[in-house]
Amino acid sequence: MTMEKIRIAIQKSGRLSEKSLALFTECGINLTAGSGKLMADSADFPIEVLFLRDDDIPQYVADGVADVGIVGENVVKEKHKTIDIAERLGFGRCRLALAVPKIVNYTDVTYFEGKKIATSYPDILDEYLKKKGVNAEIHEISGSVEIAPGIGLADGIFDIVSSGSTLFSNNLKEVELVMNSEALLVANQKLTEAKRKIMNDLIFRIRAVQKARRNKYIILNAPVKNLDEIVRVIPGMKSPSVVPLMDKGWVSIRSVIAEKDFWEIIERIQELGAQGILVIPIEKMII
Ligand code: ATP
Ligand code: MG
Repeated sequence: MTMEKIRIAIQKSGRLSEKSLALFTECGINLTAGSGKLMADSADFPIEVLFLRDDDIPQYVADGVADVGIVGENVVKEKHKTIDIAERLGFGRCRLALAVPKIVNYTDVTYFEGKKIATSYPDILDEYLKKKGVNAEIHEISGSVEIAPGIGLADGIFDIVSSGSTLFSNNLKEVELVMNSEALLVANQKLTEAKRKIMNDLIFRIRAVQKARRNKYIILNAPVKNLDEIVRVIPGMKSPSVVPLMDKGWVSIRSVIAEKDFWEIIERIQELGAQGILVIPIEKMII
């Protein structure tokens, strides 16, 4: 009997590649390169990795050539293949937006009526313009969309924006946000039960890594007189551990706090007399 594996498609080289590979490593899945550069497998987990252009991933997953894939939401939406979104991965964040030359006196989306817009995302744009009741000419190009207005190819563009620096250096400004995007774990809709189980194991590991990233382990010394109040600020996963110190007026507290609340929490517990605060990254977190 051959051991069941899942085949996962990830971007071969591009903005999602490194983070996709890093996610495997953090999940304890080390890859061994297969023959050529198209595939890799792992001794740690029943997985086979297929390296592809990101545009092709939805189709491969829909067809079942790959069982699952990691790809941007923008690409998933543009290709509208019949696949499941198994998990949102929280990296590769960007947005799809309309932009026009800086000098344009832009008021609203009706500006695009009768205009020419260059994009690599014609379907998402078309759907957006229909919803807004705007008739514009969509000019599909596959790359360097941002130069289109400058060379007289289009009046505006519809493209990926993250920091906005590409727009800026091409004398463009963002005028309409159309969708936000992040990397998704997508899955074939007809996975066998065995494959679905492997995928769920992978998702379990991914969640443990993501939770760990969002939280920090904190150790601090606190005056006993403020213990109740401090514990209210850092309630922990179940409840914090409190260890007595030799000095009767003090205890040591260990807990877990959310990264996003970090500075606010530190400030509050300092006000309550906490000292010797150590903040430690967590590698995995299973609740
Ligand atoms: P391929 O050669 O695989 O077709 P590509 O050039 O189409 O690659 P990339 O530029 O590598 O694609 O971007 C891949 C995905 O990463 C995008 O579809 C998007 O979801 C996401 N992405 C794009 N730009 C950024 C950014 N600046 N920051 C974060 N994520 C981004
Ligand atoms: Mg692509």
